[in-house]
Amino acid sequence: MNILIFGPNGSGKGTQGAIVQKKYSVPHIETGVIFRDNIKKGTDLGKKAKAFIDRGDLVPDDITIPMILNRLKEPDCKSGWLLDGFPRNLAQAEAMWKALQNEKMKLDYVVEITLSRDIAKRRIMGRRLCPVDNNHPNNIYIDAIKPAMKDGKMVCRVCGADNLASRADDQDEVAIDKRHGIYYDTKTGTLAAVHYFKDRVKVLSVDGSPGVKEVSEDLLLKLG
Ligand code: AMP
Repeated sequence: MNILIFGPNGSGKGTQGAIVQKKYSVPHIETGVIFRDNIKKGTDLGKKAKAFIDRGDLVPDDITIPMILNRLKEPDCKSGWLLDGFPRNLAQAEAMWKALQNEKMKLDYVVEITLSRDIAKRRIMGRRLCPVDNNHPNNIYIDAIKPAMKDGKMVCRVCGADNLASRADDQDEVAIDKRHGIYYDTKTGTLAAVHYFKDRVKVLSVDGSPGVKEVSEDLLLKLG
């Protein structure tokens, strides 16, 4: 099963992606995670990408497009993939569609998690990362996934790990607004990419405003 998942930063796309990955046993490929891993390891790719990411800008297409298209050719993608964070603009959508046709790769589903811009922003600013597993959801503004408290300190609500952290680009309002500006742009941005696919494959729309469980139930039902 090959799936693309769209949603603004803060829509819970990463959390839902992890649930879909488990259910369909496909690798969850997140462009943001690939970039952050490369930055952590100090690779050439990481060095090139860092300044763009810190500002909330997109990493240029000539770096991102080949990186992702090559990733989809790796052996673990043979039985399917869930791609998250790509395409992010119309140019990437067109390149992706062309590559899929060339490789005779089928796109089974496109998932769009919808959420208003103001709620998405609040969610991002409340997001806290578990140092043990990034897929342990913690958010100081969402009751259902509030971090637990231990000895007066916030700890991961799933595994109890302390040292919950925030992503640097999650606390910078200018960077958040820039990222959302790109996402909600219906002319050349990410919503333009969603519309591009709406003309070509079935797009499953899921309301991202309820809690993690409700959203995942709706999503898994629609995926069938
Ligand atoms: P994310 O973890 O999805 O929020 O991505 C973090 C950052 O990585 C984004 O703000 C961009 O700077 C960069 N990035 C992620 N995906 C892409 C993409 N498809 N094209 C260009 N830059 C990207």
